[in-house]
Amino acid sequence: MAQVILLGTGAALSDATREHTYLVVQGETSSILIDCGGGPVQRLSRAGVALDSIDHLILTHHHPDHLYGVSVFLLDLWLAGRKKTLHIYGLPETLRATRAMMHAFEWERWFKVGYFPVEFHRVSNAAISLQIVTPEFSVSTTTTKHLLPTIATRIVSRQSSKAIVYSSDTEVCDSVAELARGVDILFHEATTVDKPVLGHSSAAQAGAQAKRAGVKKLVLVHLPPNGDVKKIHAAAAKTFGGKVVVGKDFARFKF
Ligand SMILES: [Zn+2]
Ligand SMILES: [Zn+2]
Repeated sequence: MAQVILLGTGAALSDATREHTYLVVQGETSSILIDCGGGPVQRLSRAGVALDSIDHLILTHHHPDHLYGVSVFLLDLWLAGRKKTLHIYGLPETLRATRAMMHAFEWERWFKVGYFPVEFHRVSNAAISLQIVTPEFSVSTTTTKHLLPTIATRIVSRQSSKAIVYSSDTEVCDSVAELARGVDILFHEATTVDKPVLGHSSAAQAGAQAKRAGVKKLVLVHLPPNGDVKKIHAAAAKTFGGKVVVGKDFARFKF
């Protein structure tokens, strides 16, 4: 059975208990990493996810809290002896920033000493488009309403037909509601408890979005530093009326 493991649940300003928000979707034979903060290899190892099981890396946008771990992730895969191709997906702006970051580390030199293949795939910024089909998952994306071009991601398990959506960073918007329509779990950002913030959502807004999209369960991520979990939960539960979970690093959700 597939599962989502939260590798981090903090907002851009994180705290002692939360790494920046990123997650892995683990299948029986392959896994998909979405965004890449902190020390991804340490987090994946602790979560029991084999590095070689990750064939796809989806980058939602090029704010540092979602992207900065890519450089050490790519270095460590190589050091771990990877040979097979890694596929990286993102909007053109995101891929440009990723390549520029890697260029700063002169990764062009790495390929002269037997670096594994990396393929970049441009994500369309059209309304809901199918990006990846694997034996276990189908993945589609849509653009969100954020400070930079950003995508939200929906992943359907082909085994269970259950679906999850990760909003990434966004204000409440129609496109994410449409992508999340009726899904089993919506992982939505909640950068504040109830105060509106440009480019982001509060827990109360995330709850309203979950209600509007008719999702079965709401999991809040991208949480404020040292946030009051009870207040965050209450704000979302009040507007959603359904099951709300305040995300924790390393929490798992089967689907
Ligand atoms: Zn962020
Ligand atoms: Zn952002």
